[in-house]
Amino acid sequence: MKIVLENLTKRFPNRSKKGGADVIAVNNFNFEIPDGKLIGLLGPSGCGKSTCLNLLSGLETPTEGRIYFDGEDITDVPAENRGVGLVFQSYALYPHLTVLRNITFPLENLKGNKKMSRNEMDEKALETAKLVQIDGLMERKPSELSGGQQQRVAIARALVKMPRVLLLDEPLSNLDARLRLQTREEIRRIQRETGITTVFVTHDQEEAMSISDMIVVMKDGVIQQIDKPQTVYNDPQNLFVAKFLGTPAINVFVGSVKNGVLYIGDDEAMNIKCDFNGRVMVGIRPEGFIPNKNGGLCCKLTGVEVMGRDTSILSTHYAHEGEIIRSIIGSDDAIEITEITDVLDSKIEKRLHPDSGSEIKTETIRFSLKPRKVYIFDKETEKRIPFEAV
Ligand code: ATP
Repeated sequence: MKIVLENLTKRFPNRSKKGGADVIAVNNFNFEIPDGKLIGLLGPSGCGKSTCLNLLSGLETPTEGRIYFDGEDITDVPAENRGVGLVFQSYALYPHLTVLRNITFPLENLKGNKKMSRNEMDEKALETAKLVQIDGLMERKPSELSGGQQQRVAIARALVKMPRVLLLDEPLSNLDARLRLQTREEIRRIQRETGITTVFVTHDQEEAMSISDMIVVMKDGVIQQIDKPQTVYNDPQNLFVAKFLGTPAINVFVGSVKNGVLYIGDDEAMNIKCDFNGRVMVGIRPEGFIPNKNGGLCCKLTGVEVMGRDTSILSTHYAHEGEIIRSIIGSDDAIEITEITDVLDSKIEKRLHPDSGSEIKTETIRFSLKPRKVYIFDKETEKRIPFEAV
């Protein structure tokens, strides 16, 4: 089912004794969720993800705007009549009921022609339990299940009424790392098998990247970017999005563009074609660095870590925002560790200490940059500035 959000806004009154402006948890959202897709709402704590989900489910009423399910305006339709299945971070299972009765619970009070016999309910519950692979646990109580199994029961309970839309609010937060991975794959599989349009809330970018068809990146109630996961990573529209996605995180430097040269600090990092001249922030993905004796970016080396296939070079630079620059030299760059070491060895700089006059050694490493992994942002607006490498 296609979902459309039109000028959707939710304001909460500021309850602080000193007064102040309302909190705009969801600020003028306009987007479409195509039928059968899984959309990830991604952003830091407090950015409005849960509020957006609650507006879709009917648990919250919008201050302005409309919501359409398959063209039908459901903004004023009560939650129970919207045909949505909800799964929260806390599984909220009934402890005294078996798995079977927890799953059949939403079916017990169906009225009119939807009313089901006990047998029909049990059959439906078993069918849904098979989908989430807990059909062998039907007689257990929640306390006799692992966290992952409990969350599957919660998902089965949300699915048993065959909702038109499935809404998941941080469903994996209570699971340990291994189970998180496994359960997110499961959710993806179940979503594909059922074809139910699904909205998945998370603050974990890796989680959103791995299971979503589209990601909505949010900050302070404002949409920053809506795109396919790979596009959000490869083509971030602003500095916030660039920083929010990627592990290890993007390296951010203070720089400038002057007459076709991109400077990082005072280093002439790259020749570019760009309409902009002035102060910028420069983001470089860890995989965007190439150790090169003649490279324009000169960093102080602090370490080399070999991690299986890849080698990670740790360095610092005075124009870098964070502490350590993490660059990853992948096997596709065909640079052997010995070569990197050669680069390092050839670059032992000798300088005199300004106070003592004694000789100090600084190991430096020079990098050239992969233009497609370099992003330039306006220092004021933090919006992406397009450029071409020359
Ligand atoms: P988290 O990841 O921490 O759950 P979130 O992105 O889901 O955060 P929301 O819970 O949607 O964020 O909250 C968005 C903003 O709206 C926050 O500033 C929050 O304090 C505020 N807010 C949420 N619910 C209410 C409410 N009932 N009354 C007042 N303010 C609220």
